Amino acid sequence: MDFSNYQKGTTSVWGGETELFPDGAITPPIVNSVTYGYKDLDEWHNVALGKAEGYIYSRNTNPTVHVLEEKIKALENAEAATAFATGMGAISNTLFALLTSGKRVVSLKDTYGGTSKLFLDFLPSYQVNVTLCDTTDHEQLEAEIAKGCDVVYLETPTNPTLKVVDIERLAKAAHQVNAVVVVDNTFATPVNQNPLKLGADLVIHSATKFLCGHSDAMGGVLCGSAELVKKVFQFREINGASIHPESAYLIARGMKTLELRIERQNASALKIAQFLKGHEKVSDVFYPGLETHPGYAIAKKQMSGFGGILSFALKGGYDDVRKFLPQLKLVHLAASLGSVSSIAGPPRTTSHVELTEEQRKHLGIPESLIRYSVGIENVEDLIKDLDQALSTL
Ligand code: PLP
Repeated sequence: MDFSNYQKGTTSVWGGETELFPDGAITPPIVNSVTYGYKDLDEWHNVALGKAEGYIYSRNTNPTVHVLEEKIKALENAEAATAFATGMGAISNTLFALLTSGKRVVSLKDTYGGTSKLFLDFLPSYQVNVTLCDTTDHEQLEAEIAKGCDVVYLETPTNPTLKVVDIERLAKAAHQVNAVVVVDNTFATPVNQNPLKLGADLVIHSATKFLCGHSDAMGGVLCGSAELVKKVFQFREINGASIHPESAYLIARGMKTLELRIERQNASALKIAQFLKGHEKVSDVFYPGLETHPGYAIAKKQMSGFGGILSFALKGGYDDVRKFLPQLKLVHLAASLGSVSSIAGPPRTTSHVELTEEQRKHLGIPESLIRYSVGIENVEDLIKDLDQALSTL
């Protein structure tokens, strides 16, 4: 079914679920079967050759995973989608499927830590040329892209300082040199931003985060043109980074409330950012929905909401972070993000623990920075909680 004329709330519920499942089930069954039996050898042969629809072996395709793939495909308005065991599975499979020895990728200094590690360690060891630009320096990015490259890899907003890059502008530059544009859309979610509409060729999500929404399953998804998705799928079915059907079920189930959750998280994050911005104990607030944020104009142009994640720095440095965070009653002090419950932590302990203080400074990450992923709790309660914890400083 074509969902392009439906809104996101409708698409989240019905994507991949418009037909009844076996026995008239209206919710997708979790098909744990590893393999699929055939009585007719010719039918089996045709499915195995890809000439007829059907399932052969769950490392390749699985009916429950198919529902998840159809749902994200509908939400990103893509031709095709394929799912992975984790977000990093989606990212590494995509990069290794598209980049072979001698090819070149242009990306950002501020990508997610695991992605950075691929750029800094693994891809160069396979003789892939990697150029990482200052994340918001669009002129530098355009100049590097114009030298010729095979992949332009973007992430926006970035982790943890919520920097914003102009997808449309960089996709235009990339297409002039026939490069494939890949965007990690995890922070924005398909409710707030659709990179394919802005000219990207492939979109990735860590489905572990907002898509799942409950911190109880890990997964990754890739969407885009049928040709490019097939290329990555063929790499994934052989290296085996396939998602388990139970995880696919949980993520697809979580996605049914995606729009409801994201609308609330967008609104709450903005209120919390505004509250913190005026607070005497807070030195900096990073949220693309604040007009003072350097990426506000681009974010306003390419996003329909500014997302559920913000970060802020305390005036008193890391000593204050140590005192402040344990006082919060309504957050989990933990890694990860995008859940129904609020989650907070200092990037020096979570996403950027492996960097030195000097390297964090170079990326503009203060030691007193706290990343705060806003849950679906009532925002008045969250603000009260933040206020009482700040008052202890
Ligand atoms: N992309 C972004 C923006 C992330 O924040 C993360 C994880 O935090 C990933 C990718 C990796 O996802 P996963 O942990 O599901 O492998």
